[in-house]
Amino acid sequence: MGIIDSPQDIQNSLLEWFKLNGRYWIPWKLKKDGSIPQLGESISPYEIWIAEVMLQQTQLKVVIPYWEKWMKVFPSLTSLAEDDLENVLMIWQGLGYYSRANRIHQSSKKLVEFVGKSIDQDPHAWPHRIDQWMSLPGIGRSTAGSIISSAFDLPTPILDGNVKRILSRLLAIERKSIKDEKKLWEFSSLLISMGSPRDCNQALMDLGAIICTPKKPSCTSCPLQNFCVSYTKYDPEDFPTKEMTKIKPFQEIGIGVVFNNKGECLIDQRLESSSMGGMWEFPGGKKIPGESIQKTIERELKEELGIIVKVGEKLLSFEHAYTHKKFYFTVHICEWISGEPKPLASQKLLWVSPEKLNDYPFPAANKKIISELYKHLCIGNKKL
Ligand code: SF4
Repeated sequence: MGIIDSPQDIQNSLLEWFKLNGRYWIPWKLKKDGSIPQLGESISPYEIWIAEVMLQQTQLKVVIPYWEKWMKVFPSLTSLAEDDLENVLMIWQGLGYYSRANRIHQSSKKLVEFVGKSIDQDPHAWPHRIDQWMSLPGIGRSTAGSIISSAFDLPTPILDGNVKRILSRLLAIERKSIKDEKKLWEFSSLLISMGSPRDCNQALMDLGAIICTPKKPSCTSCPLQNFCVSYTKYDPEDFPTKEMTKIKPFQEIGIGVVFNNKGECLIDQRLESSSMGGMWEFPGGKKIPGESIQKTIERELKEELGIIVKVGEKLLSFEHAYTHKKFYFTVHICEWISGEPKPLASQKLLWVSPEKLNDYPFPAANKKIISELYKHLCIGNKKL
């Protein structure tokens, strides 16, 4: 009997394992009173949606405290839609990939129109279809499938990293081509069509996190061992085929922490349309080949803020990697000489007392600069 002939047996084994080993404690998968939802019972999609977006690039254990804080500050869809992006970014600060926070905020406005403010606590008022969720910015098919199956126990398949890995190994599919990807989606749909879609999807995610791990999968404890083609015929670790790691381009950046004669420093807010839009940062820019980093800072601050500065001592330098690129930042303390600062390449500029910097959302690289600046100014030791 081929594996495709036995989806019901696979699901049965998976759900048996899930009953004893599933991560039933994940807070957004529970009802408001902390109990586990019954078969076919709907629960609030709001908490699930926020968690699913947070989980797109971040691990569960990192997400949980951010999600808990989020739910205290934005307990409902309406509270989120009616607040400013800056407050959303304050909560997101440290999670990275800030465009996700921007997209959640944009989506909340669309959802509130669909759901209605007065009934945003009623799961039945929320969208139940894949295409409705996929029309929101940043929601792909797998995220939409996970939200719908988790909230409404409907049979929408998922294919996140964990599920792709399990299914590629079960079927011994390399996942090199669009055709392979299509087969994995079909198999995920087939498994879920056997019933208990909420538990089936969660069981797949949990099996991928606990047993069928990227390295050294625990095949001997796996409930799907008897069905697994890669286990019986090949080496499971060869599936799915690894993608070639691309070498990230490298760029040197000069940053100026510019002080005025009141001891305030200058920060700018990134354009809404840019990556990390709405976050605050210290001004600066890319070094041109052959230029000294001091010259870069002088030039960038003149071009982007219209000010003349005197570049002083170096505060710190460090490397910071994003998904597709790597930066080497060199930060100097600067003295403001002339020119009224103008936001020529940003949406807003502010002179801020250094103690107040933590009231604004900054990306991780800028947080490093603030922490070094505090050491430099002895903030915290009361020697300012
Ligand atoms: S037998 Fe091994 S490779 Fe196959 S699904 Fe289970 S853990 Fe993954």
